[in-house]
Amino acid sequence: MNIGIDDLPIRDELRGKSPYGAPQLDVPVRLNTNENPYPLPEPLVERIAERVREAARDLNRYPDRDAVELRTELAKYLTRTAGHEVGPANVWAANGSNEVIQQLLQTFGGPGRTAIGFEPSYSMHALISRGTGTGWISGPRREDFNLDATAAAKTITEQRPDVVFITSPNNPTGTAVDADTVLALYEAAQAAKPSLVVVDEAYGEFSHHPSLLPLIEGRPNLVLSRTMSKAFGAAGLRLGYLAAHPAVVDAVQLVRLPYHLSAVTQATALAALEHTDTLLGYVEQLKAERDRLVTELRALGFEVTESDANFIQFGRFADARAAWQEILDHGVLVRDNGVPGRLRVTAGTPAENDAFLEAVRTVKKEQNA
Ligand code: PMP
Repeated sequence: MNIGIDDLPIRDELRGKSPYGAPQLDVPVRLNTNENPYPLPEPLVERIAERVREAARDLNRYPDRDAVELRTELAKYLTRTAGHEVGPANVWAANGSNEVIQQLLQTFGGPGRTAIGFEPSYSMHALISRGTGTGWISGPRREDFNLDATAAAKTITEQRPDVVFITSPNNPTGTAVDADTVLALYEAAQAAKPSLVVVDEAYGEFSHHPSLLPLIEGRPNLVLSRTMSKAFGAAGLRLGYLAAHPAVVDAVQLVRLPYHLSAVTQATALAALEHTDTLLGYVEQLKAERDRLVTELRALGFEVTESDANFIQFGRFADARAAWQEILDHGVLVRDNGVPGRLRVTAGTPAENDAFLEAVRTVKKEQNA
């Protein structure tokens, strides 16, 4: 019997849909999922082993449900690097910022409610909305992929969403959003409903601009979401966190699963935070490589969107899918996010970036031939 998903009694809104899935292909140079190319340094690997060994002795017990030590260290990290003092009561952590976003949507979205994002943007905002039964509204963006504060505020006023996503720097386009735009959208969202505004700063550490964290002050409906997947080079760890008014942290407790953050995860994240300075050193190298890629791609005649992230959107291609395949045929995997005429490349090691530049140079020559 050939049974498929649609033969099962699944929710109607999930019928015919496909799961999130960037291809995980086995090619020499993988620059498609905005990962950090640098493996964790050996002393950190040792420290993780040590802390996990300690945690293992207590694995018969449930972990600290409130992850207080981890939230304290995350708060110190933000206070030191993001321009605003926060404490553990302002911080909440979960398994990747995807889970943070899911908990926020379970708390502030849900059936009969809506969320808005300004597309193209991070596709999981829409997918997690669907998964939590939250209606999705696709808001506008300018031709140059920046947010148009007036047009975006107007859409919020008209649509009155319950949750507003602002991704800064934006994925897949790469540009950061300025504080004035965030404030204009926050004001519009408060006047319309009021609603929760989520600033997704997954790539914040790579930006040319300061963090938007200080904006949470005096704005209880503004949440900043962060991750250790990119700047900390720990995508495999699955650790995301938010900073907001303590009431938001109390609110997400209503939906979080008890003991959602394993003792092993908490121990590993704490070890990584001990090595913040080394890891932020890699971030500086990646920013320099990102800027080099932007310059070189422009010199090759590509249109490049301003990047504040560890990836770059470039084009234009008559057929982005065909260009993606051609670059892949040269051993380099980049990302086709479905933005017409554009592809996205993650900044890798200098050698990986050279391989990528060589591949696009060849593809461009072949296209012009
Ligand atoms: N937000 C944005 C904008 C992202 O690009 C990503 C990862 N690609 C995430 C959130 C989720 O990251 P994670 O769950 O690994 O923390």
